[in-house]
Amino acid sequence: MERLAIHGGKPVRDHVIYYGRQWIDDSDVRAVGEVLKGSLITCGPKVEELERRLERYTGARHAVAVCNGTAALHCACMAAGIGPGDEVITTPLTFAASANCVLYCGATPVFADVNPETYNIDPESIREHITEATKAVIAVDFTGQAVEYEAIRAICDEFHLILIEDASHAIATSYKGKKIGSLADMTCFSFHPVKTITGGEGGAVTTDHEEFYKKLVLAHTHGITHDESLMEGAPHEGPWYYEQIALGYNYRLTDFQAALIMSQMDRLDAFAARRKEITKTYDEAFACLPGIIVQKEIADSDTCRHLYVIRLDLDKLTCTRREFFDAMSAEHVQCQVHYVPVYWFPYYAHLGYKKGLCPRAEEIYSAIMSIPLYPLLSDQDVQDVICAVKKVCGFYRK
Ligand SMILES: *Cc1c(COP(=O)(O)O)cnc(C)c1O
Repeated sequence: MERLAIHGGKPVRDHVIYYGRQWIDDSDVRAVGEVLKGSLITCGPKVEELERRLERYTGARHAVAVCNGTAALHCACMAAGIGPGDEVITTPLTFAASANCVLYCGATPVFADVNPETYNIDPESIREHITEATKAVIAVDFTGQAVEYEAIRAICDEFHLILIEDASHAIATSYKGKKIGSLADMTCFSFHPVKTITGGEGGAVTTDHEEFYKKLVLAHTHGITHDESLMEGAPHEGPWYYEQIALGYNYRLTDFQAALIMSQMDRLDAFAARRKEITKTYDEAFACLPGIIVQKEIADSDTCRHLYVIRLDLDKLTCTRREFFDAMSAEHVQCQVHYVPVYWFPYYAHLGYKKGLCPRAEEIYSAIMSIPLYPLLSDQDVQDVICAVKKVCGFYRK
């Protein structure tokens, strides 16, 4: 058997590859440069252009561009009217922002457990966690796979809950033929560099609801409006006049970021096709590899994966997840783990959340890691990753 690099053997590859990275080309640089040389680098026409483009792409009636995905979630929670005394149900297997946005509003995040095969929030667990105080659900399309939307929608309708989708991973995914962004009451996107398309930073919320749209607009620009029909009656002083009618934030995106995101959208179909191709190659390589479990997909989701998560079948291996992870690093394949259950973090522990709340999510966390997945990976890179997984897995197999 080949010696592992961690034991002094030759690494599978010379250069390190990471689990994710952006793809910026000359057309992106040109698009940004043109805006930077113009007169409006923020509050200009590119942001609105991006919003119209996101509406066309997702099929949603409205889109509001904001400065990052976390701001998108915060604005969505504000538009939903979430406040002190309210509970919002979400998954622990997500980036902290999916729950932090609830805390920003003075409300309480409640963690439902996940499906052990898809790793997405389990609709039945949502139902079990509903109380009189529950106001909304934040469903996360983990790794890019759509949540079980119809089942969750039915529960939200039954209990009059607002459904917010955290689609930070899922911009090119469809559910039953409908693009993510057109389904939930509000859908949040992130354009961080590891995500499917990027603006450096950036985010957006899409919605079909006029009321939410108006609140989202206010939330991301200080609660200030120039729209006379919204003004409340302070004397209109002249052309310079605007009113602050709510408390909002400055969560605006710049015009050069909007231009970058649109330039990336020009290649979104190609990015998605490559992500799907790599996912298929990995699935085929690992489907029958003892020691490795692949994430299951629901038939309703036509998924563009943001992350490719392998789960170790630790009963079949002699190593721990940590040893496997370190051995992959030594082979120069730098993995990452998505995610530490949110309520395990000290901040949440201090709020009173206890380990053991969501046993299935915790069990999944203990055995997973994300291997490299991004469109810039060459076929050789993909083969190197497969080779490293097989090498490490082969060494530690019982
Ligand atoms: C990236 C991410 C966010 C936050 O997005 P930012 O743009 O980094 O603020 C929120 N939720 C999930 C699931 C994410 O992956």
